[in-house]
Amino acid sequence: MVTAPPPVPESTTFDCQSCGATLTLREHERTAVCPFCASPAVVEKPSSENPDPTFVVGFVLDQPRASQRVRQWIKRRGWFAHGGLASAVVQETRGVYLPAYLYGAVADSDYEAEIGENYTTTETYTTTDSKGNTVVRTRVVVKTEWRHLAGRHSCYLVDVVVTASRGLSNAELEAVEPFDLGAIRRYDPALFSGWIAEEPSIVFEKCRELAHSEGTESVGRKLARFMPGDSHRGLRFETRVHDEILHLVSLPIWIFALRYDPNKPPIRVTVNGQTGKVGGAIPLSPIKITIAVILGLLLVLAIVLIVRGGI
Ligand SMILES: [Zn+2]
Repeated sequence: MVTAPPPVPESTTFDCQSCGATLTLREHERTAVCPFCASPAVVEKPSSENPDPTFVVGFVLDQPRASQRVRQWIKRRGWFAHGGLASAVVQETRGVYLPAYLYGAVADSDYEAEIGENYTTTETYTTTDSKGNTVVRTRVVVKTEWRHLAGRHSCYLVDVVVTASRGLSNAELEAVEPFDLGAIRRYDPALFSGWIAEEPSIVFEKCRELAHSEGTESVGRKLARFMPGDSHRGLRFETRVHDEILHLVSLPIWIFALRYDPNKPPIRVTVNGQTGKVGGAIPLSPIKITIAVILGLLLVLAIVLIVRGGI
């Protein structure tokens, strides 16, 4: 007997007119505001032909715990945080499956460097002792012998993750990385059930370029660690990257977006939905900072006056 596969939930696609995110909602859900930027300008659009992700990292952190992380994070910014945060309703933290690319490649590098080997030697020197006599003494000093080294180094570039979302920048994604990619799963539509998922809204070639440069940036650090000797200097290298592979992956992100001023970008706090790591930038209140600086200066002045007065 053949059993029919479970039905794939119906989905609706929305575009955010403010930040450009493309959101997919399953099972007749609706959203009144964009989870990335809290803008109400979300409009339904026909379903696109975007490919499904290959992999998914599932949510581990639930909504109440994510809201708590956001609340604690805002609290730690304390008194200096902008007054608009007082109205923050962190229960509105929303979970989104963020589109990203997982990049892998092989990097071959030709390198050249000066390798330093340390050795100790005893040297004599003349100095003046406490009685004013000139005396000859010895001391042990560390010296470095430099030698030239050139060769070829090959390595795998793995676990490079870049955003494919116009809703969340790569810097914001990096702020909540890393993800435990050991827990990655093959995509199954059922995993998205009940969640908002974003479709890739940055063109593939741009993501590839970003991943490529992020991957090659790490080559310099890998080579530096690979250098033998006690130290090295003048490391130069030329890298060829080949066998690049990119997989579309959906990552679990909790987002708290608050528009405290219609003319300013929203405050946004993001939480890694797997590990709970929090990232974000909160606008500080210029007035409160000025008051703190003035109070600080008055305190310094008071201390100076007290010290001068000999109290
Ligand atoms: Zn938006």
